[in-house]
Amino acid sequence: MEAGNSCGEDCCVKVAVNIRPLIGDEKLEGCKDCVTIVPGKSQVQIGTHSFTFDHVYGSTGSPSTAMYEECVSPLVDGLFQGYNATVLAYGQTGSGKTYTMGTSIKDVGYQTGIIPRVMNALFSKIETLKHDEIEFQLHVSFIEIHKEEVRDLLDPSLANRQDIMAANGGKVNNVSSLGGKPPIQIRETSNGVITLAGSTEFSVKTLKEMADCLEQGSLSRATGSTNMNNQSSRSHAIFTITMEQIRRRHCNDANNLNEECMTPEEEYLCAKLHLVDLAGSERAKRTGSDGLRFKEGVHINKGLLALGNVISALGDEKKRKESLHVPYRDSKLTRLLQDSLGGNSRTVMIACISPADINAEETLNTLKYANRAR
Ligand code: ADP
Ligand code: MG
Repeated sequence: MEAGNSCGEDCCVKVAVNIRPLIGDEKLEGCKDCVTIVPGKSQVQIGTHSFTFDHVYGSTGSPSTAMYEECVSPLVDGLFQGYNATVLAYGQTGSGKTYTMGTSIKDVGYQTGIIPRVMNALFSKIETLKHDEIEFQLHVSFIEIHKEEVRDLLDPSLANRQDIMAANGGKVNNVSSLGGKPPIQIRETSNGVITLAGSTEFSVKTLKEMADCLEQGSLSRATGSTNMNNQSSRSHAIFTITMEQIRRRHCNDANNLNEECMTPEEEYLCAKLHLVDLAGSERAKRTGSDGLRFKEGVHINKGLLALGNVISALGDEKKRKESLHVPYRDSKLTRLLQDSLGGNSRTVMIACISPADINAEETLNTLKYANRAR
């Protein structure tokens, strides 16, 4: 039994495992299911290894509804109370990260995935709060981190990127510089808020507008991946919803008609939710001749490695209480997520795995990584 750090109720990082069903190619190749869920125990077994997580979702039933309700819905509620949050999908390429997050427009996951559900829940909740004196402002950004460089998936000029790529003989990798824009920079304000300087942030008023952002960014990502060496499996995609609230409280004490009561009291709250489709966790295959590909692998490992270290430090209550060093600065990914991982924020990691025996080694790696996060 491989038990991770035990976490109390207030643990800021929850870890869930999602096991997708065997898919087409795996079935054709006659793969066997090598992962077992121990009923009623949130436990996963593979070979002689056994791991316990906060939640385990299998390929039967409707896991995405339960997953949303149990893991993500509390984070959306927290957003209304001003708490930042992060949802991370981790796993090897093909394990179902994009399907789970709902960032693929051609997939069913696009409708049932986490991001579409979050968007629906947000707007329904705002609708129910309309009678209160609360003004909501929602903003969306969608970026990608590839080779330690931040790219704007909502950059309107990206729509032309295929043309630009063609004009350059398909050799341009640095898309962020194609539009002549300065590179996007991650900055920290004096009160610890992380901002992205130079990326597009859309103000959205309706569900449709937000869904359009998701679609546009997902398209940019897909276009990029066919042109650039299947880059999407090597990059982290981060869809961020920022919610600002201005709450006005009118003084209703009739006996207290002093000046303060004439003007409504205002409370301002701002919180953000990062929804992250992480790069494939499989180790870079060293191809020898292909130096570029190796470099990509190294950089992606840097983000995932730093993330593992940060989350593991956060799960370690002793380290957290003594405010020991949490290595946020070790990668762009952790730096960007810094104010939404740890502290008062809530984090859910969804470890995505394939049940197929041919993937057993990577599946075990994923479960070990996720186990460290608990
Ligand atoms: P990743 O983003 O981790 O590389 P994908 O999300 O693209 O993986 O999933 C790989 C394949 O598996 C896709 O064809 C997807 O449709 C399919 N798939 C993933 N999760 C599920 C699921 N829960 N049910 C059915 N098919 C799934
Ligand atoms: Mg994917």
